[in-house]
Amino acid sequence: MDTPPSIAIVGGGPSGLVLARLLEVSGITDYVVFERDESSTPGPNEQGGTLDLHQDSGQEALKRAGLFDKFSNELARWDAACFHLLDSAGKTIANFSDVGNRPEIDRLQLRRLLLESIPQHKIRWGHGIRCVERRKSDKSIVDDDGCIIHFTNGSSATGFRLIVGADGVWSKVRPLLTPTRPVYSGKLYIEGKISHNNPSYHLAHELVGPGNMLVLGDEKTIAVQQLSDGHYRVYFGLVAPENFYQRNISFDANSSEATEEIRSRLLSDEFFAHWTPRMKDLVENAEGPFRPWPLYFIKPETVGWDRSVAPGVTLLGDAAHASTPFVGEGVNCSMYDAVILAERLVSHCGENTMLADVENVKLEAALAAYEKDMFARGQDLIRRSSESGKRLFSDNASHLTLQMLNGDI
Ligand SMILES: Cc1cc2nc3c(=O)[nH]c(=O)nc-3n(C[C@H](O)[C@H](O)[C@H](O)COP(=O)(O)OP(=O)(O)OC[C@H]3O[C@@H](n4cnc5c(N)ncnc54)[C@H](O)[C@@H]3O)c2cc1C
Repeated sequence: MDTPPSIAIVGGGPSGLVLARLLEVSGITDYVVFERDESSTPGPNEQGGTLDLHQDSGQEALKRAGLFDKFSNELARWDAACFHLLDSAGKTIANFSDVGNRPEIDRLQLRRLLLESIPQHKIRWGHGIRCVERRKSDKSIVDDDGCIIHFTNGSSATGFRLIVGADGVWSKVRPLLTPTRPVYSGKLYIEGKISHNNPSYHLAHELVGPGNMLVLGDEKTIAVQQLSDGHYRVYFGLVAPENFYQRNISFDANSSEATEEIRSRLLSDEFFAHWTPRMKDLVENAEGPFRPWPLYFIKPETVGWDRSVAPGVTLLGDAAHASTPFVGEGVNCSMYDAVILAERLVSHCGENTMLADVENVKLEAALAAYEKDMFARGQDLIRRSSESGKRLFSDNASHLTLQMLNGDI
């Protein structure tokens, strides 16, 4: 007979799925993943870019999960670790043929790799969380009766020993632990695509090759990266109000009219009108529908909570420490959170165990040990990314970034 799960992982992104896989390989199998997406088929708003996995974090997570060989042999693009830095006049500032052991993988391939490593019945698709509520028989936390998860479809679930919020920047689990909320960074990306038959494809290929290009200057950026099927993603980075995208479209956001409205705004004096023609080509030809990514972060000093606040509940990844993406470590840090949480659960509660049978004190000790490590790592990432964001969007961005890459600042 199936034992009801004692662990609820909320969110089937990189951090939640790595945790699920690590629990599976450790023999802690009484878990379930609640994911708001309706199925594993990528939705229209799913992020489709590429991620470089770092040796000590993202790659380490895949090693512990027993997935590194498949990643390395079949999916990792080792030749994509090349990086070109240009200024807004189109002048090459630096070419790095190899930025080190940082192979790229499409975000969607990473998700598929992780999904295929977990028994499918343990993922409950179409289970978006509306909120998590703590049931108390009175005001005292000592008489805690556990938590109830309310889903957006009107159903609910209860009886979990551990709830892990891995539900990203707008986590619905986080309010149980801390009142902190993500704040807007003042910067956003607008994402477009350059397919094989795009008039700018050859230009992108010449400039970027199999890796990444970053063009910086005048408080703006253009980032271009190749994906596994050879097409390019292009990200226009702006300093702009949070609602920039909505304010500048009068049509449905997915329509070609909306794309053209945003394009003409990007080509205006305020943004890329004075950039070199080759860079403007990328703006003129990028395919829509453009997708806005307003960038949020949690203030580092507000990352953290007292363990006594919410027994049996914790957060992973962006839910705990959302940062801007300016050091390219968010996913690596999030996957590593899952490594540490799984490791602490095993060391305090044991391998091949049912969490239902574990004493509270052991579970809380595991969570405290995990959080001590995670809070510091998350705060450090947010701070470094904010600093990097200041550099990337400064007047003198390309030179400051080169100094940083050379280790001079
Ligand atoms: C534009 C952009 C570019 C980036 N580039 C990079 C990069 O190059 N390198 C890098 O390391 N990082 C990058 N990041 C950061 C990286 O994407 C995140 O740090 C990482 O995805 C966090 O993983 P996660 O599992 O914690 O959360 P997420 O990836 O956000 O996953 C959360 C999961 O929870 C689900 N979910 C959300 N809400 C609910 C709910 N209420 N109920 C149930 N399920 C829910 C979501 O559908 C999703 O599956 C980038 C971020 C952005 C915005």
